[in-house]
Amino acid sequence: MANGEKRDYYEILGVHKNASETEIKKAFRKLAIQYHPDKNQGNKEAEEKFKEATEAYEVLSDAQKRAQYDQFGHAGVSGAGGFSGGGFGGFGAGSPFGDIFGDIFGDIFGGGAGRRSQGRRGDDLLYNMEISFEEAAFGCEKKIEVPYAKRCSSCNGSGAKPGTDPKICPSCRGAGQVRYQQGFFSVSKTCGQCNGEGKVVDDPCPDCRGKGSIKDTKTLSVKVPGGVETGSRLKLTSEGGQGVKGGPNGDLYVAISVKDHPLFQREDDNVICEIPISFAQAALGCEIEVPTLDGKVSMKIPDGTQSGKIYRLRGKGIPSLQGYGRGDQLVVVKVETPTNLNKKQKELLEEFAKISGEEAHPMKKGFLDKVMDFLS
Ligand SMILES: [Zn+2]
Ligand SMILES: [Zn+2]
Repeated sequence: MANGEKRDYYEILGVHKNASETEIKKAFRKLAIQYHPDKNQGNKEAEEKFKEATEAYEVLSDAQKRAQYDQFGHAGVSGAGGFSGGGFGGFGAGSPFGDIFGDIFGDIFGGGAGRRSQGRRGDDLLYNMEISFEEAAFGCEKKIEVPYAKRCSSCNGSGAKPGTDPKICPSCRGAGQVRYQQGFFSVSKTCGQCNGEGKVVDDPCPDCRGKGSIKDTKTLSVKVPGGVETGSRLKLTSEGGQGVKGGPNGDLYVAISVKDHPLFQREDDNVICEIPISFAQAALGCEIEVPTLDGKVSMKIPDGTQSGKIYRLRGKGIPSLQGYGRGDQLVVVKVETPTNLNKKQKELLEEFAKISGEEAHPMKKGFLDKVMDFLS
């Protein structure tokens, strides 16, 4: 139909001008099945006929467009058509092909599984994984057991007892859909006898009870990158629930939860560690050992260190999840007030207090001065 006149839509479908909706639909179905691109690969003529029929049906199946066409011919519906490419690319929801779409495939691939019974994607699974503080910091590799549906080896997935075959479902004759009339409409729904499979098993396989698959578990190795924290999620593509009827598998998500550490807390990529030192150590200065993720580190505490002072150990924190650099370790010094003093210790401290003037406690003096100011 390159340059020639467009053929009459009724003629294309081979129906009378007064044809009913049902007749038009029937006629289109017949042509669509006959000339469907999937059945006529590489056949230009069939492709052209398919497009022609599709265009005719798009107009004649729509009461308004049909009326315009009847009155004005092709000019009345020139905006229609638009099927430049082949295949089903333009079939969106709400198009006149929506309801007929499944039927066509049902008839073309009748009996067999194939595209009619569009496979369903498997479920996404969530696995909760608990790891240690160190494992979260530096990453780890963990083996986990996940459930999956293993193809039954006895029946090779057919669900039929070995030596027997599933047979075409008698209710739907293999279509997986049954049609019934409801008022003016012809409705199709999933066949109840075969659940849309198109096949039924008389003698179920004893090993899988006719399901074709057996619940099993598989071991997966999960690489946890360094830097993850509680709430991090890893995605393992296609390791989730098995797809149904050839549909893709779901994904497996691993949700990380990090166990508390007796010494360390985390704030972003920094590790916080509180270190208690004695009152004398704080006053005189000392050298202490600080635990870090990389082992012990020696640290100098200068004399006169106050409680709550924070020292920073650069690069001793958590490796960044993005892969570059590390956070710091923050060492929080806690000066511990001595308790349970014996007589000797008390005497010495009292002696110490007597000879310690304001110059030894500048913070206290500053505070007392402010109180005096405030109260006067
Ligand atoms: Zn089996
Ligand atoms: Zn059936």
